[in-house]
Amino acid sequence: MSTIFSKIIEGSLPADIVYQDDHLTAFRDINPAAPTHILIVPNREIPTVNDLEDGDEALAGKMLLAARDIAKREGIAESGYRLIINCNKDGNQEVFHLHLHLIGGRSLGNMVKPAK
Ligand code: AMP
Repeated sequence: MSTIFSKIIEGSLPADIVYQDDHLTAFRDINPAAPTHILIVPNREIPTVNDLEDGDEALAGKMLLAARDIAKREGIAESGYRLIINCNKDGNQEVFHLHLHLIGGRSLGNMVKPAK
């Protein structure tokens, strides 16, 4: 296991873990963009969305359902939140271990600024 997120998942790097099971680990982003900013990460090292396989339907679904449950526990389900997965260069992906950002706790404005 090589990514920084794998080290968090296996417990060799500290993080504020809010949920963990056999498939997923969720922890607070170290540089939060909003009052709630949690990363939902498959325990298996999958670099990007492009690397998901056809057999990963259940895993991908679990990521979404974990986001739903964590949003509820964080008290932002009703006020709302945003789910983001960045992919590769144009998506500004920094950590090449698939992760779903769960961001909320304030109004987030428009999704993407229009190109100039
Ligand atoms: P992305 O640009 O989608 O790859 O996002 C990577 C995210 O990982 C950023 O929001 C970082 O703040 C976050 N991050 C990087 N290192 C850590 C860490 N050790 N613990 C928690 N979050 C981290």
